[in-house]
Amino acid sequence: MIVRDFIFWLSTKKKVTDAIARRGIKNGFALRFIAGEKIEDAIRACQELNREGRRISLNHLGENVTTVEEASNVRDGYVEMVRELDRCGIDGNISVKLTQLGLDVKPGGRELCQQLTDEILAQATRLGRDIEIDMEGSPYTDATLDIFEAVRRKRENAGLAIQAYLYRSEKDIERLAPLHPKIRLVKGAYREPRSIAYQKKLDVDASYCRLLDELLDGRFVTAIATHDSAMLDHARKRIAERGLGHDKYEFQMIYGIRRDLQQEIREQGHPLRIYVPYGTEWCPYFMRRLSERPANCWFVVKNLMAEIFTGNGSKR
Ligand SMILES: Cc1cc2nc3c(=O)[nH]c(=O)nc-3n(C[C@H](O)[C@H](O)[C@H](O)COP(=O)(O)OP(=O)(O)OC[C@H]3O[C@@H](n4cnc5c(N)ncnc54)[C@H](O)[C@@H]3O)c2cc1C
Repeated sequence: MIVRDFIFWLSTKKKVTDAIARRGIKNGFALRFIAGEKIEDAIRACQELNREGRRISLNHLGENVTTVEEASNVRDGYVEMVRELDRCGIDGNISVKLTQLGLDVKPGGRELCQQLTDEILAQATRLGRDIEIDMEGSPYTDATLDIFEAVRRKRENAGLAIQAYLYRSEKDIERLAPLHPKIRLVKGAYREPRSIAYQKKLDVDASYCRLLDELLDGRFVTAIATHDSAMLDHARKRIAERGLGHDKYEFQMIYGIRRDLQQEIREQGHPLRIYVPYGTEWCPYFMRRLSERPANCWFVVKNLMAEIFTGNGSKR
């Protein structure tokens, strides 16, 4: 936990993130978790994953935009992305963050964000595709739920991530149940205080299993988004016991993480979707992935050391 907190703290230090951002793509270490900086890179990665029988969810990295213009540009980018997925015949959807779509814009961020989200959904509807809304830090939970609820009432092709570490999530799931939505259950990637979130892995895992039992009761389409073997075992057991069909669930994992488990899930015949992030704004996302597994840091340190001592970083 101390190492995670330290990496999280580092991720708020501009000098550190700038140094990583300058070298991450050039040296190649960012490409472990990011499909590239350009849409063409991401599409290539998606095509390869499709060939391996994995669906994708494409995310253009970025968060916390503060102007109407920036948020509208992000909307345009996502509309274009849905078209591109369609044009390339890719089996997949897109994932969006609401702070990318203007939630922080003052005044009127909520209304703007809902409008832009709905416009992306409208384009996705026209092409028979769906979108998933990521869940960000707790200052955004209420607004994210409200916007999700509003757009989901209008259109069925929106799904939402829910975080097992938040005490409130059970109530949030019950609130959304009448809409029968797609819910992506994740453990939660942000640093949240003890007053609102479980801190110990044991407690987060127990919450994950409890929420999973609820989500896999037939009222939802559930995305089981984790790389934790114990959570995967729990999910597989419930799916078998309840005889759930592929229309009721899928597993989801992140690009570049636990490819062994990705392979195992596919070999067992379960549907699997890979979350594929790309774009130039990869640093905060990259730091969150580092904080989840301090061993990942050695990979970065090794690359930076190689650059310092030999002038070369490894390319992946
Ligand atoms: C598809 C998908 C979408 C997500 N969307 C959101 C979201 O919208 N909001 C949000 O807050 N969080 C999101 N997350 C992140 C999630 O909350 C966790 O932070 C992350 O998945 C790590 O938790 P875990 O369930 O894999 O379990 P952990 O207990 O953290 O890890 C279990 C095992 O998985 C492997 N592992 C986990 N993380 C890494 C890593 N970074 N590098 C290498 N190995 C790793 C390790 O082997 C580890 O022992 C998403 C995760 C996935 C898979």
